[in-house]
Amino acid sequence: MLKEKLEVKMGSAERPKAKKLGFSTRAIHAGQPPDPSTGAISTPIYQTSTYVQDGVAQHKGYEYARTQNPTRGALEACLASLEDAQYGICFSSGMGAISALMNYFQKGDHIIASDDLYGGTYRIFEKVFKSYGLEFDYVDSSNLANVEKVLRPNTKMLFLETPTNPLLKITDLAEASKLAHGRNIIVAVDNTFATPYWQQPLNFGADVVVHSTSKYLGGHCDVVGGAVLTSNDKIFERVKFCQNAVGSVPGPLDAFLVLRGVKTLALRMERHEANARQIAQFLKGHPKVKKVYYPGLPEHPGYETAKKQMKGFGGMISFEVKGGLEESKRVCEAAEIFSLAESLGGVESLIEHPALMTHASVPKEVREEKGISDALVRISVGIEDAPDLIADLEQALA
Ligand SMILES: *Cc1c(COP(=O)(O)O)cnc(C)c1O
Repeated sequence: MLKEKLEVKMGSAERPKAKKLGFSTRAIHAGQPPDPSTGAISTPIYQTSTYVQDGVAQHKGYEYARTQNPTRGALEACLASLEDAQYGICFSSGMGAISALMNYFQKGDHIIASDDLYGGTYRIFEKVFKSYGLEFDYVDSSNLANVEKVLRPNTKMLFLETPTNPLLKITDLAEASKLAHGRNIIVAVDNTFATPYWQQPLNFGADVVVHSTSKYLGGHCDVVGGAVLTSNDKIFERVKFCQNAVGSVPGPLDAFLVLRGVKTLALRMERHEANARQIAQFLKGHPKVKKVYYPGLPEHPGYETAKKQMKGFGGMISFEVKGGLEESKRVCEAAEIFSLAESLGGVESLIEHPALMTHASVPKEVREEKGISDALVRISVGIEDAPDLIADLEQALA
């Protein structure tokens, strides 16, 4: 009976029956039955480009590995299950996933996106898809009145991040979906920061979720990947078609690494958050810290909305150091356990300077308008011991 619930045909378009089991049970088992030919308990890395056919056009569901690969299929089924989605489609990077989704649209379509967007997403919208005739507006979607102001008859998608990067602004997913659906607009959510463990956007009305699996889902800073999850047949068909047609598919080893990472997602996220809560409190009380951005702090403007749609607040914190560029740079460079690096979501703690690193491509005026000051520092809190992380920040701030 229980086993039946976990039976998800690899790479299939069938709704995973695993939905009713708990999150970690699904993370460990959905799409990953023991290998039928050997009993291997870990999904094998099917490192092959082609598959031998029994007769002409008689195959076992696998013809060529851009189109189908069993390791990738297992990951697709598992991630779909975790997002409560019917379909999962995996890519070689988060940007590969987002660009496949963008193929759903046509010249003349208008898209409204959160203004505090991942830099690479802003770049592909502005520097690639704009030249194909798509139109974009960027607004602070944490206030939906801003979205309403830029609606047009040709608006086709709201592309949301919540929490955003680096200011961790929160958009109300249920309200955004209501606003969009009355107008035939689809809602896409980049759920990389929250992960499905803390937030499942489809359950609040979103139509499609995208992920960079390079972050928390992989979880160990050792793989780059992406995914699109949806229960919308039309979106699935187009994105699945483009996965094969465009070809930015993950290799089987990468799919294996994400599958392996996802098995401990619940444990890791609990620890990321427990550490982040303590660090947010510590930073709040520190005389050299001007402001702390963490959605789990009651004074954060998105706190109430976050509480409504997230089961936890995650492991990302930004803070402004008193002073300016020199002071914030010095904190980043003085940290010892926190490694100075871009990216996020791994077991190891990272620290970075948004204005000079992840968001350097955003013009200074635009950054300032959005509230990304030169004094801002962003940390991805890892799963080391909290007292050690706090001691490290303490000495870096000193
Ligand atoms: C990293 C990231 C991406 C891009 O993913 P890649 O795997 O680096 O291509 C997209 N969105 C968010 C929120 C990210 O953090």
